Amino acid sequence: MFEQLSGKLSGVFEGLSKRGALSEADVTEAMREVRLAMLDADVALPVVREFVSQVRERAVGHEVLDSISPGQAVAKIVNDALIAALGGAGAVPLNLEAVPPVPVLMVGLQGSGKTTTSGKIALRLATRERKRVLLASLDTQRPAAQLQLAQLADQAGLRAQGLVVSLPIVAGQGPVEIARRALDVGRREGYDVVILDTAGRLSIDEALMAEVAEVRKVAQPAETLLVVDAMTGQDAVNTAKAFNEAVGITGVVMSRMDGDARGGAALSMRAITGAPIKLTGSGEKLDALEEFHPERVAGRILG
Ligand code: GDP
Repeated sequence: MFEQLSGKLSGVFEGLSKRGALSEADVTEAMREVRLAMLDADVALPVVREFVSQVRERAVGHEVLDSISPGQAVAKIVNDALIAALGGAGAVPLNLEAVPPVPVLMVGLQGSGKTTTSGKIALRLATRERKRVLLASLDTQRPAAQLQLAQLADQAGLRAQGLVVSLPIVAGQGPVEIARRALDVGRREGYDVVILDTAGRLSIDEALMAEVAEVRKVAQPAETLLVVDAMTGQDAVNTAKAFNEAVGITGVVMSRMDGDARGGAALSMRAITGAPIKLTGSGEKLDALEEFHPERVAGRILG
C-alpha cells in the first residue's frame, strides 16, 4: 500500500532539492505534482484541495524560500500535513472505559472483514490484557456468519481458559434480543467486554441502518467501530460517511491494508467522517491487527 504515492512524492522532493533557492513558481509546480499524485492515489478531491492549499501557504512563506535546503523544508511541511490528514500525532486507542461488560459494536458492509476483525480484537484483548471477551453474532439472516464467529472464538484457542467465548445461538431471536441476551450473559458471567458483530449487507440500505441504529440505542456501546476494506478506496470513505450519519461511529478499522490499495481511503477518512482510524487489518490471520499510527504511516509514504 502507498507504494505508488510514495514513489511519486519522492520524485517531487528530489526535483526540488536539486535547486538552490526556491521560487514561488517552483513551489506551485511541486504542488501541482503533489495534487496529481494524491488524486492518483484515490484521495477524495476536497481533501486534496485542502491539503495542497495548506502546504502551499506554508511553503511560500519566507522560511522555506529562503532556507538552506528548501526541498527538505517542503518535505517536512508535506510530512506534517500528511500526519494531520491521517488523524494527528499518535494512535487513538480503543475506549473501553466503562462499567464491564463493556459493549463494543462492530458495523460495516458484508465482506468488509467485520467478523474477522471481531475475532482479532477479542484475541488481542484476551492475550494482551487478559480480558474475558464474549463474542455475539447478530446476523440472524446468515447462519454462516454466526458459525464463523464461533469458529473464530475457537481458533483464538482461548475458550478453554474462558477468555474468548461465543454466545450460543438461540433460534428465533432478532438482533436486538441477541444484543440484550449477550449483555445479560456478560454481566452474569463476569465478562469484561462484549463484542456485538452486527449483520452486514452488500450495499448500504435503510433497513440495515435502522437495524444497526436500534441495536446501538439498546446496547449503548463504548465503541461503535466501522470496518471498511481499504481496497475499496473512495467507496470506503462514502460508506463511513453514511454509517456515521445514520448510526454514529466512534472509530474506523481499515482492513486489507496488506493489499495493494492506493491509500486514498486512509488519507481521506478523518477529514470526511471526523472519525479516527483506530486499527488496521493486515491479513486473514487472527493476529494481523495493528494500531494506526499516523506519523509512522506518513513516514512510510514519504519513504
Ligand atoms: P464480514 O462479512 O464483514 O464479516 O467479513 P469477513 O470477516 O467474513 O471477511 C471477509 C474475507 O476477508 C475473509 O476471507 C477474511 O479472511 C478476509 N479478511 C478480513 N480481514 C482481512 C485483512 O485485513 N486482510 C486480508 N488479506 N483479508 C482479510
